[in-house]
Amino acid sequence: MANSIRSIRGFNDILPDRTPLWHTLEATTRAVLQRYGYREIRLPCVESTELFKRSIGEVTDIVEKEMYTFADRNGDSLTLRPEGTAGCVRAAVQHGLVQDGGAQRLWYEGAMFRHERPQRGRYRQFHQIGVEAYGLSGPDIDAEVILLSARLWRALGLTDIRLQLNSLGSDEARAAYRRRLVEFLNDHKASLDEDSLRRLDSNPLRILDSKQPSVQTVLADAPTILDQLDSASAEHLSGLRELLAATGVDVTLNPRLVRGIDYYSRTVFEWVTERLGAQGTVCAGGRYDGLLQRLGAKPTPAVGFALGVERLVELLAEVADGASQADPQVYVIADGGAGRQAALGIGERLRDALPTLRLVVHCGAGSFKSQFKKADKSGAEWAMVLGEDELANGTAQLKPLRRRGEQVAVAQSALAAFFSDQLR
Ligand code: ATP
Ligand code: MG
Repeated sequence: MANSIRSIRGFNDILPDRTPLWHTLEATTRAVLQRYGYREIRLPCVESTELFKRSIGEVTDIVEKEMYTFADRNGDSLTLRPEGTAGCVRAAVQHGLVQDGGAQRLWYEGAMFRHERPQRGRYRQFHQIGVEAYGLSGPDIDAEVILLSARLWRALGLTDIRLQLNSLGSDEARAAYRRRLVEFLNDHKASLDEDSLRRLDSNPLRILDSKQPSVQTVLADAPTILDQLDSASAEHLSGLRELLAATGVDVTLNPRLVRGIDYYSRTVFEWVTERLGAQGTVCAGGRYDGLLQRLGAKPTPAVGFALGVERLVELLAEVADGASQADPQVYVIADGGAGRQAALGIGERLRDALPTLRLVVHCGAGSFKSQFKKADKSGAEWAMVLGEDELANGTAQLKPLRRRGEQVAVAQSALAAFFSDQLR
């Protein structure tokens, strides 16, 4: 394989044994979103670089060092989207979806691209499903998107995902807090690592996110944003907490929760699990009341979240049972040219008769023995054998592969009835 070409680091193939879990996640999410009145929007993978600079913020990790930016052939600076909110807002503004001041509930799914260090749960191409609600300013819509995600975890059978909540306050409150935090950290510079020292000038709130033990120790005594929220934001937060309490959602207030993107204001939240090691955040979001205006709309409040598909699929893999909905139920084995022809014909008739039947006809040559091996390996519940005798007398032999039981002969005309009875 000296000359074979391999995929690029951080860009994953999702192989057929894994795609059934993706389908489960996608179908379940779609169904839940539909039940809350959210409509899908499909967005391009490439946007103008300016869009991300203006929305995510110039001094964020994403814009400073993670974007795949390139010059188009005409010289325009383009970027592979690192996240979905910016493009979704751009589209909503461009197509007038938020013109009349009414509410918009939208969702999208797609590949995102960030040049990060690849590791478990962190890739350079990864997938998000994002949910966005525009035009609503109260804590009720914040509660709705949180309830919706909680319902999704239940529908997927995922437990052990906990909600963390914080408020980043108004722009003014955040700016004032930022000054206080910088003052405090300036007095403890000796304990800061290089990364945190750099952020002290550019984006000090991000220091709250630091995993460095020495920084963590200092932060234990740092002032928190919750101590100096503006009164409107404080009211919004307590309103949200009341709604969550009333609807039975457990939540931990985490005054150090900040997000890596500049557009957030007030509510921010993360759903976190202990089961995935260091990359435990499976869903993150919050309120971004200033973003639509920054991208050219009238002032329009907004809230949303994005979930990390790869991380959730990994969780799903733990709880999923072995039997895959993608495996065939019937594998058809035949003998000789006449047998092949009969097999294809019977396969078509059965698929006509049983719209959900999963049936694979063996293609190519092979002894009965090797065909049986393939049938077994396919995961099928039944092998259907069409040998010379069966062709002559219009029957098929059916052999159960996943449980004990006798092989039975069934008339070809009765196969549909047989399988509709045997297969759920
Ligand atoms: P993290 O703190 O893990 O870097 P983030 O703050 O950069 O996450 P967001 O931009 O809010 O994350 O993205 C929302 C979700 O998308 C994350 O919670 C995570 O589940 C997923 N995600 C983000 N970056 C990656 C990545 N490089 N690979 C896989 N999933 C990712
Ligand atoms: Mg990140």
